[in-house]
Amino acid sequence: MKLSCPLYLSTTTTGSCWEYFRVRRTRHSITDWVDVKWKGGVMGHPLQTDGCSCGVVVVKMAKAVMESFPLIPNVNFECSKKYMKRERRELALEILEASVFDEHTYCAMCAALRPPGSGSPITDWVQCDDCERWYHAQCLAMDSRDFKKAETGYWNCPLCK
Ligand SMILES: [Zn+2]
Ligand SMILES: [Zn+2]
Repeated sequence: MKLSCPLYLSTTTTGSCWEYFRVRRTRHSITDWVDVKWKGGVMGHPLQTDGCSCGVVVVKMAKAVMESFPLIPNVNFECSKKYMKRERRELALEILEASVFDEHTYCAMCAALRPPGSGSPITDWVQCDDCERWYHAQCLAMDSRDFKKAETGYWNCPLCK
């Protein structure tokens, strides 16, 4: 069977789940979920006709809800494979454009040059010794002692801790 076949993917995934819970029982004596008869399958959905576009459908639905709020959204949209492919690409670009920022120029916590609500023109910056992202000390709620320690010693950001 083809790797992209939804039934094949579902069946191999249920096999992995079954194996995971079996190992968990053997190693840690945890018995919940072990006796569940895992079975692969493909559920039909009125909007999603393939086995790989749930992300696109969820984002489209969320957008519809936000755009029509407080009214009930109209979640009827085209769902052909061709349309889903195009939508997936457009959504990915939109998300990337909204989220990518220069991590060497902006704070990795607030994504800005100045900490939010900061009146002071002087800002303390601290750089992670692992990923090299920069952070405002203020955005990490560092006091002057924490800051001095991070500045002089080895320091890991919340993403690398
Ligand atoms: Zn910041
Ligand atoms: Zn880091």
